[in-house]
Amino acid sequence: MGQLASLNKYLLRYKWLILGGIVCVITSNLFAIYVPVFVRLGIDNAMAISMLLPVSSSTVLYGMFWKQVLWFGVAILIASVIKGVFMFLMRQLLIVTSRNIEFDQKNEIFRKYERLGESFYREHYTGDLMSRITEDVSNVRMYIGPSIMYFVNILFSFIMVIAQMLSINSWLTLWVLIPLPFLSYSIYVVSKKINRGNKRIQEQLSVITTKAQETFAGIRIIKSFGAEENFSRDFRESGLDFQKKNLDLAKINAIFFPLMTLLMGLSTIIVLYVGGWEVQAGRFTPGNVAEFIIYLNMLIWPVASLGWTTALVQKASASQGRINEFLNQKEESQTGLDDIKWEQKISLKNINYRYADKDVDALSGVDCEINKGEFVGIVGKTGSGKTTLIQLLSRQLDIQQGQYLIDDVEVQDFSLKAFRSSLAYVQQDVFLFSDTLRENIAFGSESQVNEEKIQEVVRYSGLGKDMKLFPDGLETIVGERGVSLSGGQKQRMSLARALMRDAEIYLLDDCLSAVDAETESTIIEGLKKALYGKTILMSSHRIAPIMRADKIMVIEDGKIMAVGKHEELLERNEYYRWLFENQSVES
Ligand code: ADP
Repeated sequence: MGQLASLNKYLLRYKWLILGGIVCVITSNLFAIYVPVFVRLGIDNAMAISMLLPVSSSTVLYGMFWKQVLWFGVAILIASVIKGVFMFLMRQLLIVTSRNIEFDQKNEIFRKYERLGESFYREHYTGDLMSRITEDVSNVRMYIGPSIMYFVNILFSFIMVIAQMLSINSWLTLWVLIPLPFLSYSIYVVSKKINRGNKRIQEQLSVITTKAQETFAGIRIIKSFGAEENFSRDFRESGLDFQKKNLDLAKINAIFFPLMTLLMGLSTIIVLYVGGWEVQAGRFTPGNVAEFIIYLNMLIWPVASLGWTTALVQKASASQGRINEFLNQKEESQTGLDDIKWEQKISLKNINYRYADKDVDALSGVDCEINKGEFVGIVGKTGSGKTTLIQLLSRQLDIQQGQYLIDDVEVQDFSLKAFRSSLAYVQQDVFLFSDTLRENIAFGSESQVNEEKIQEVVRYSGLGKDMKLFPDGLETIVGERGVSLSGGQKQRMSLARALMRDAEIYLLDDCLSAVDAETESTIIEGLKKALYGKTILMSSHRIAPIMRADKIMVIEDGKIMAVGKHEELLERNEYYRWLFENQSVES
């Protein structure tokens, strides 16, 4: 239950709606209580009239009889309608509240997700993130809506109905109440089983979805390896498991309703049996028996829902726990200086970086300086630490040891938002949205997207000749994650996206690895023109793209081994010379 306390702020936000709902619950119960009273009076009066039959004229008695029936019938109708109206309002107010809270909570979690850093995303799967913002939030909604509604309803109907029953016949009341705790408890147990069954089904469903998604994403490789049969078999097995879990749940559901009806019927039999004795003993009227049966029916649903809502509350509490686990994660810092003044250089001093699951440093003792306006290349084998270095520079990763300075100011002093808006980052694995080429290129760019600028970046990023191949030019839809594009085209797209930004520093992580040699040199020339006066840091596992850089850093096993111009390095660094002579580095 402790976990659910974090919902209090929302309950407070909608306190008037909730209070309104509670008032409606009480009013609806108040009117519901009148119905059995009118039924009893109607029956007892009708019986009294029929007793007079031997001594009075039948026409007069029939007139009286019909008047009675009409009077009580109308009274029952009015009480029921009023009860119904308030029940409707109660549902409206409480269910609307639960939907409002669901909406607010989803937004809160989404905002939180956006503020969590790289390390969080490294540790958690997308499926998990998705299930917390959808399934868990909806479990919590079930607590706020139905649970609160039924709980308040149970409380008031119990107090009112039992008080009324006790005032009529305390002995029979006790008898009638005996099966109810069993009913409540067995529904609680069965509900828990149902919830567990549902959870298993959900988990299996997500296994199937992931399998299907992975299969479609990797369909090319599956076909080329002729692995269709294996995948089909695997999918079929998961499907069978899913079916079995559903059937297990269906079995539990199948005993649920008969069990409820049995226990409810038991109480009714007790009323009829014990009530019958009481009538014979003269302590009870036949009207009282009818009245008791109606009270009993009024109690049964709240009792049944008590078991159900207890299971719901437990489920909601577990879900809220999972949500809280993410909400309590440390966010990327949102504060700091907004005004980034950068006059001379950025520098890294004695940087060490180690990934949480590794026992060697990905970077160790890195010292480097990047002067404003310089084109800096980083070259090294795959796994040498280039991406880690670029991610540290772009603050995707936080500094663990050492210093990162812009001029002489620690980079942590600047707000992340301002800092990131001053840089453009092209990552190694390109991500494209299922949208048009134009939208993908213009994505994230703050400057006014004008046609001239788009045409310019298309030219500079070497996409010009590709445009002729796309049927609708820039308006061509790229397909899910850009499946319809070649590796090189995707890289050029992400370069174009970066060029759209008006940044100070451009961090390009091995972004030309899938581009052919001729296009590569055209792109480098284009980049130099497009980004004239800007700072460029480009990493590559081959020397060719960074050969004409103002400064090249050679990185090996997380250490910077040499810094210099191409010619200097060729002359004095054996490793660099070896790389160059072998043209491309092994990957
Ligand atoms: P490069 O970009 O030069 O290929 P990386 O910076 O990607 O090199 O990798 C440097 C080292 O850090 C490698 O040993 C790699 O296995 C490790 N590494 C990279 N990313 C992660 C990660 N997310 N978790 C754990 N280790 C990582």
